[in-house]
Amino acid sequence: MIFAKQAKLSSGWATNVRLILVDGKITSVAENQSPAQDDTIVDTLLPALGNLHSHSFQRAMSGMTEFRMAGKDSFWTWRDLMYRFTAHLTPEHVEAIAGFVFLEMQEAGYASVGEFHYLHHQPNGTPYDNLGELSSRIAAAASETGIGLTHLPVLYTYGGAGKVPLAAGQARFGNSVDRFNALVGQVQVAVSNLPADCRVGIAPHSLRATSPEDLKTVLSAKPDGPVHIHIAEQPKEVADVQAWLNARPVDWLLTNADVNADWCLIHATHMTEAETVNMAKSGAVAGLCPVTEANLGDGPFNGPQ
Ligand SMILES: [Zn+2]
Repeated sequence: MIFAKQAKLSSGWATNVRLILVDGKITSVAENQSPAQDDTIVDTLLPALGNLHSHSFQRAMSGMTEFRMAGKDSFWTWRDLMYRFTAHLTPEHVEAIAGFVFLEMQEAGYASVGEFHYLHHQPNGTPYDNLGELSSRIAAAASETGIGLTHLPVLYTYGGAGKVPLAAGQARFGNSVDRFNALVGQVQVAVSNLPADCRVGIAPHSLRATSPEDLKTVLSAKPDGPVHIHIAEQPKEVADVQAWLNARPVDWLLTNADVNADWCLIHATHMTEAETVNMAKSGAVAGLCPVTEANLGDGPFNGPQ
């Protein structure tokens, strides 16, 4: 049992809260209690956090990229290495790595994860016999470890802004809208077998990896879950989108999609003041990944504004 001098409950802050756990699960939460003799006593108790952005397979390339040769390395050379790395991953690897990092997340205090999942196919781009093979591996890893999973299958159709074809290193990620919608259907079945803290959303990878028409189509067909998108991580990405769509990524998205509190804008880094204010007004969550953003030199989020 745990006794907390103060605890954050769904109703707000409460004092002298006692939690009863049976088989590792909370069965009762009561306020204004006294501690019993064997209780673990803590000052402050918070609900476990959700980790809002994970590409779990990248856990296994940690250490391969945590250095930089001045003038030679950038986000884009990091990405090349990541592509070479993904070519080696089997479904068994994907499940094992996801299980490992989901376990680490829970040890660090996270109870749930948004898995932004873009590794879909065999290394040459051919789908597995089961289109949702690698998504089902992620679901299995969540099931094995007990983490709450928001599975976010990624729509990744193009290699760059302006419908540039996929590069060889991106073959495992690619889906047309039709195949993507079929995949989402399979993912919903796989996740329906998991506990109630698991659900399905979608993740158009970024504006540069989709098109305005495709984005509209997947949004109209999406399940009742959140929408995550990488939005403005790199200055080059902002410039490419601006040259193609005549607007900066956040500006374009807010104008052309019904962005609301169900949305999570990952790496909302490169925004003008107007974009920052308008994103906040939309109710969308800014999905910040400070370790990545520091490691890859993306730049800081405009938090104060
Ligand atoms: Zn990401």
